[in-house]
Amino acid sequence: MNLRMTKAAVIGSGVMGSGIAAHLANIGIPTLLLDIVPTALTDEEKTKGFTLKDKEVRNRLGNAALKKLFKQKPAPLTKKENAAFIQVGNLEDDAEKLSACDWIIEVVVEELSVKKSIFSLVDKYRKQGSIVSSNTSGISVEAMAEGRSEDFQKHFLGTHFFNPPRYLKLLEVIPTKQTDPKVLAFMQEFGENVLGKGVVLAKDTPNFIANRIGTYGLLVTLQEMISGGFSVGELDSVTGTLIGRPKSATFRTLDVVGLDTFVHVANNVYEKVTGKEKAMFEVPVFMKKMLENGWLGSKSGQGFYLKKGKEILELNPDTLTYEERKKLKTPALEMAKQEKGPARKMKALIYQGDRAGKLLWNIHAPVLAYAAQLTGEIADDIVAIDQAMKWGFGWKLGPFEIWDAIGVEKAVEKMTKENIEVPAWVQDMLEKGNTSFYREVNGDTYYYHKGEYKKRSENARVIDLKRLKKQGKLMKQNTGASLIDIGDGVALLEFHSANNAIGLDILQMINFAVDEVGQHFKGLVIGNQGTNFCVGANLALILMEAQDDNLFEIDMVVRQFQQAMMKIKYSQKPVVTAPFQMTLGGGAEVCLPSAHIQATMETYMGLVETGVGLIPGGGGNKELYLKHLRTMPHGVKFDLQEVANKVFETIAMAKVSTSGEEARINNFLHEADGISVNPDHQLYDAKQAVLALYERGYKPPIREKVPVVGETGYATLLLGAQAMHLSGYISEHDLKIAKKLAYVIAGGRVPFGTLVDEQYLLDLEREAFLSLVAEPKSQQRMQHMLLKGKPLRN
Ligand code: NAD
Repeated sequence: MNLRMTKAAVIGSGVMGSGIAAHLANIGIPTLLLDIVPTALTDEEKTKGFTLKDKEVRNRLGNAALKKLFKQKPAPLTKKENAAFIQVGNLEDDAEKLSACDWIIEVVVEELSVKKSIFSLVDKYRKQGSIVSSNTSGISVEAMAEGRSEDFQKHFLGTHFFNPPRYLKLLEVIPTKQTDPKVLAFMQEFGENVLGKGVVLAKDTPNFIANRIGTYGLLVTLQEMISGGFSVGELDSVTGTLIGRPKSATFRTLDVVGLDTFVHVANNVYEKVTGKEKAMFEVPVFMKKMLENGWLGSKSGQGFYLKKGKEILELNPDTLTYEERKKLKTPALEMAKQEKGPARKMKALIYQGDRAGKLLWNIHAPVLAYAAQLTGEIADDIVAIDQAMKWGFGWKLGPFEIWDAIGVEKAVEKMTKENIEVPAWVQDMLEKGNTSFYREVNGDTYYYHKGEYKKRSENARVIDLKRLKKQGKLMKQNTGASLIDIGDGVALLEFHSANNAIGLDILQMINFAVDEVGQHFKGLVIGNQGTNFCVGANLALILMEAQDDNLFEIDMVVRQFQQAMMKIKYSQKPVVTAPFQMTLGGGAEVCLPSAHIQATMETYMGLVETGVGLIPGGGGNKELYLKHLRTMPHGVKFDLQEVANKVFETIAMAKVSTSGEEARINNFLHEADGISVNPDHQLYDAKQAVLALYERGYKPPIREKVPVVGETGYATLLLGAQAMHLSGYISEHDLKIAKKLAYVIAGGRVPFGTLVDEQYLLDLEREAFLSLVAEPKSQQRMQHMLLKGKPLRN
């Protein structure tokens, strides 16, 4: 069987169809986007003189969806240019084009009859061997394939993406009895390696895994809100980050998803199950009223929340009026907040008899029991269920991990007392003396499955730093960083300070690591598996010293930072950095001098120091400038001033990329740098990059002189900033920062085109940094950032 993906088709250009097409385009797969032909002209089309035969009208839905991709937030495309991979058409004129596609994904309305008619059309035009899948949220996959040809059935399965497809990691893959195992295996591998998704094998049951348990959990929460007399805001204040769920907690998530979508998904299970379970899937009356009123959430302007001016009000489900937002506050809750991580917070709170504790117990206990009841029915094992909830709903812990965290024995005892049905296999597990669903032995994870513990299969492309540490691969550690042996002659430097901010401890570890790797390893990866790669230098430390007038100390820190970055750059062995998510300020400065950057699709990278009243101090100005210069082909004349202008603008405006691709457009990454689509593979990819560089006989760059624009260039750089200041766009202090930055990028008072040494540029940078750090207005900006988490414009 020759399975490949050189061209895909997406049928249906609505919310999900357009998002899936964008995701395929981001990966570089040419995609045909088809939708139905409109049956009537719009007023605008009439005034333009169009008829129903015109392409503009016939492709209206697809074209509109494509246009919308540029405006949507968060952006479905990693860069605008990717839209060129999407070709719009309609189901009547372009169905023949399906014969050229290797994968055809159906993403039309959630109605069996509509989906079946689409598949009948697809069966007529598809080529033999092409894969066909449905993005249904919960319709039987088997039923959709009924009546289709044998080859179709062999190549048909469910591929359930979550919204928004670019950002949500889960892809549920649902085979039917007829699906060829090779097709299933191919899609699982393709989903993980090419689409970058967390692939979970689900069974063909109503709503599959994540939506079945997630919807149940939401309905349990709604019932608890009503019976426990909690308000919408009170519930959200407990069911968000505190317990390892997304910040949008319960109701803000529902507002984003849309009430109609939620009710549709709940009804789908309601119609297919019986007895007690059916009753649970009945949507509460007040929600039905909200639906009648059209209060669907963000898309209709109001839902569980309503924004009035600057204030956000919460819905009172009894009166259906909006009230001031409330938060739940209990002493136990405050105590639990002091605990580290959601598992410990949950454990500290869930058995407390106060309102917060009872709430948590009541919304969790039935869901944990439900997940256990469905194991085997909706998924093969507990791992699939935990992964689906984590990847699909953004939970930090899956149901069985939560159960382990709060103690299985204690929870089962309480559930039994409260008549919550605990499935026999869980009771049996306890009776055999096994007190947890997961077990760790020598860093390997085992999970309870059909009466025994099974080792979790390892994925060769996933490097798990925690596991390596448990296996004794840690070579050196301080408060901010660790050096780990990741095998095959490669070492990894991991940041693990608060927010991965760079302080002296990390700088010391960089110095040590580069020396150690120089002697004993083939190369070094700088990466980690935290929330963000690095949010910058330790601002609190800098501010504290600045407020104490300890400029000497700051000078010392900045020197050390600059020297450590030079050490990365001139390391004898290749250093590969692996930025992901927020890679700001100092975080970006660590990446810029490295031999190779292996970013992820979601890399938000920028030198943002001006936002806190400073300029980059770790060599970032020079390195970004050099990175731009290196994009210029040898022997071709170019305008040095243009290069300086671009770098100045990027840093002055604190530009941050919205994707790895955009970081490349902003020249933080070069063409040769890599982008891992699957973030779980990033460290593996970075390690391979180290090995490839080493094998090619890596040599550090030659220390060359840098051409600068000098005094005349400085004046040019400032023109724009001065104009912006005159027209009131930027403040006096912004202008002061801009002047310092321009001076550093221009290379000071030298003639245009002078070649200067790197150290000279570092000295200019350090002087400018020190003068800004002493400015009261810069200190106000730093303080504001530390307290409020956003920049102050003063
Ligand atoms: P949508 O309403 O945004 O888009 C539906 C698409 O179907 C539109 O392009 C529409 O033109 C097309 N369509 C309507 N009638 C049709 C017909 N008779 N023949 C062919 N096409 C027709 O819906 P959506 O949210 O994108 O959902 C699409 C599918 O994805 C559904 O199966 C849904 O259950 C599933 N899904 C949705 C989400 C979500 O969060 N929205 C998440 C996962 C899966």
